[in-house]
Amino acid sequence: MTERVKPAKIRCDACPVMCYIADGNAGACDRYANHDGQLVRLDPLTIIQGGSQKLVPFMPEGAEDSWDGDIIQGERPFVTAVGAGTTYPDYKPAPFIVSQDVEGVDMVTVVTEGIFSYCGVKVKIDTDRHIGHERDIVYVDGEPIGHVMTSEYGSKMLSLGGVEHLTGGSKKEGRVTCDALMRLCNREAVTMQIGEEDHQTDVVVEAGKAPIINGEEEKLMRVGCGSATIGMFAMQWLDHADEVVVVDDHITGVLSEHEAGKQLDVPPTGIKLLGRRSTPGRYFQVANPGTGWGGTDIEDPLKILGPFKPAVAWEGLRVLMVSTTGEQYAYYELDADLVPQPKPAPKALVAASELIAENCEPSVCSVLFMAGAGGSLRAGVTENPVRLTRSVKESLTHVSCGGADTYVWPGGGITVMVDVLDMPTQSFGYVPTPALVAPIEFTLRVSDYQTLGGHMDEVRPVDQINREAARHVAQNPSAHDPMARGNFRWSKKDP
Ligand code: SF4
Repeated sequence: MTERVKPAKIRCDACPVMCYIADGNAGACDRYANHDGQLVRLDPLTIIQGGSQKLVPFMPEGAEDSWDGDIIQGERPFVTAVGAGTTYPDYKPAPFIVSQDVEGVDMVTVVTEGIFSYCGVKVKIDTDRHIGHERDIVYVDGEPIGHVMTSEYGSKMLSLGGVEHLTGGSKKEGRVTCDALMRLCNREAVTMQIGEEDHQTDVVVEAGKAPIINGEEEKLMRVGCGSATIGMFAMQWLDHADEVVVVDDHITGVLSEHEAGKQLDVPPTGIKLLGRRSTPGRYFQVANPGTGWGGTDIEDPLKILGPFKPAVAWEGLRVLMVSTTGEQYAYYELDADLVPQPKPAPKALVAASELIAENCEPSVCSVLFMAGAGGSLRAGVTENPVRLTRSVKESLTHVSCGGADTYVWPGGGITVMVDVLDMPTQSFGYVPTPALVAPIEFTLRVSDYQTLGGHMDEVRPVDQINREAARHVAQNPSAHDPMARGNFRWSKKDP
């Protein structure tokens, strides 16, 4: 009788979940697996071919094979934390602490995948359309994952994720939030519902792509508010229209009353705008927010006009109404009763509307990952964590995520923000605690690393990194060089 041998399991210690993984299987996060009793990281370590001399786009999908794998003789390599692995709990040194000579300076990069419970994304959606009121809740699969923030110029803003949703709600809320964040950060499309049932909007967000709002793909970001549009295009309308109204949810502009119209001697037309007059030619709240003209809820622009003043207006008065993207426009002439009657727009006004559209930038979604790296992962860098924080604040240590430049917030901690499009693809993972896994690298002079109590025994020269198994990507031209001298305060003193 043969004895049935139970497959040996090994324990993954890369995060607090501590999975037991059988041979040939992966752990709960699909990042680690048991291969013949060895715990292996499934995604390859990602190395960026960098250097200030040559900046080329990321290699297209499948083009990695054409890379000759030579990281030493080619441009200077940068070992990112993508695929590097984590060291939980963090008192252990980071998985890679890599040194190399950069223009005569001994530099070291400490590389680790951070497990972030305190993290989220800020989303900027270039659109005029109303997607939700400030503070409206953003849902995915029925779970709240964030909220609408204050709008910016021509863009709607969302704040998604954060520790409140990852850990502060139900188990499902945390799981759905973590999954949505990871997909957004890995540049996948995520469908979300904003607001409550009586005023809900469906929005599809994908980094670098146009948003899809209630099933319609947005095309253009507005050229400016209604008032700014008057300022920019007043000259185009002169002689072709007696009055121009630029319909905008925030500030609707009226040419004859606006300072631009006054300076160009546009006479009064007796027009009456509904809504609240702010300053001459600038009106607030002409309609409700919506997905119609200029981010309002109207499809018929005449709805925002009251009757023309008989003492001022005249039969035949020519009125152009246009939205802030120039995509919608309508031309009217007043009849004998001073009622606007639709007419085909003269060529010059069609061209002027097209000029507005031409001046609009394409609408895109931007996804910025934001996380707090001021916690325990610092111990993987130094035995004295606060020294790392100080070193970052003193610009002796440069922080990058997957080689991409980060914005480090002022004040305490190491709170970083990075554009996910600057990072290599598939930079993000997750663990079921739930938390997001994101790459982070700290680059500094070897001498500074020693001063801050770094793990000097773990420093390895870059040519000792196994480059055969690594994924090689080219430097992203829009993300700057993480090892450039200009990143460091000492370069200013000692150019
Ligand atoms: S979830 Fe992933 S990282 Fe965490 S213990 Fe399991 S396999 Fe390891």
